Amino acid sequence: MIVIDEDKIFDTIKKYNPASIALNAPDGLIHKMQILAKHIMDKFDIPTYIIMDTTWGSCDLNTTSAKILSADLLFNIGHTINTDEPYKNVMMINAFDDITFDEVATKCIKLLKNKTVSLSTNSQHLHQLNTVKKIFNDNGIVVKIGSGKGQLNDGQVFGCEFYPNTEIKNQVNVNVFLGQSNFHAIGIALSTGKPTYVLDPYFNEITEITEEAKKIQKKAILAVYKASMVMNFGIIIGLKDGQISKNTALKFKRELEKKGKSVQLFALTNITNERLKNIYDVDAFIQVACPRISMDNHFDKPVLSTPQGHALLKILSNQNIDEYLQLPHWL
Ligand code: SF4
Repeated sequence: MIVIDEDKIFDTIKKYNPASIALNAPDGLIHKMQILAKHIMDKFDIPTYIIMDTTWGSCDLNTTSAKILSADLLFNIGHTINTDEPYKNVMMINAFDDITFDEVATKCIKLLKNKTVSLSTNSQHLHQLNTVKKIFNDNGIVVKIGSGKGQLNDGQVFGCEFYPNTEIKNQVNVNVFLGQSNFHAIGIALSTGKPTYVLDPYFNEITEITEEAKKIQKKAILAVYKASMVMNFGIIIGLKDGQISKNTALKFKRELEKKGKSVQLFALTNITNERLKNIYDVDAFIQVACPRISMDNHFDKPVLSTPQGHALLKILSNQNIDEYLQLPHWL
């Protein structure tokens, strides 16, 4: 069960005495957010707006929506980072999963025997890292938890940022990810090039994700090669608060034009196949917002992420693109 740190929200409201507040959380927490909003309104009698636009990470906080609502405080729930208040009037609220990994960790001891393991997870299960480490250590498995960097805590990964895993990849045999998110585990596998296992505490299952990651990698490379054959490019700047990379977009534009390509610039908030179908005379895109938009979704035309865009420039210069996803950060 997911537990939201309500005390922190209540303490913050008491401290700042806002006239109104806004809440935003991933889709899986919407019902809990509704209950929380009722608690806040009962307790403090202030308007509490639930922002229903998606929030995919600390890069996607919907601060503009909170400003439009004139909310004095925005609480973003469920995206733990190593700071509480990344922007003025925006507070990050932890939402931890209280399930334990004891059973599934014990189940995979035989599989991991005599291996050195890189252990990581996403925000909901961070508090379980040391418990699982102890179970492994007590059974002769060497465990390393890589250091956090940027907004990441030690052992924490985002869907595009894998510093704790990449910094120790040469010291370990396998990655072990705690949780149900194949999305994060696939990123770990691709950024390290190492076998990667997912420990699911709900189904008590251990799944190797390495082959699935390879399929995504093949699809990503194919898109890069397809893009290398076209003339007309669109470069898309994402409009979500933390995903705006105008300089990277303009750099891609300059580099592609040097190669004789034609480039148009676009900007949009939600980059979907449907929206891109409205664009004419463009045969391939590079989007410099969330890299996982390109890697994990279907598009009729190639839509490259930033690392794929760099690989494209290499191909156009007859350079090797081996291991182009083996990076700590895909932006
Ligand atoms: S994977 Fe996408 S949504 Fe997640 S942190 Fe990275 S840019 Fe943001």
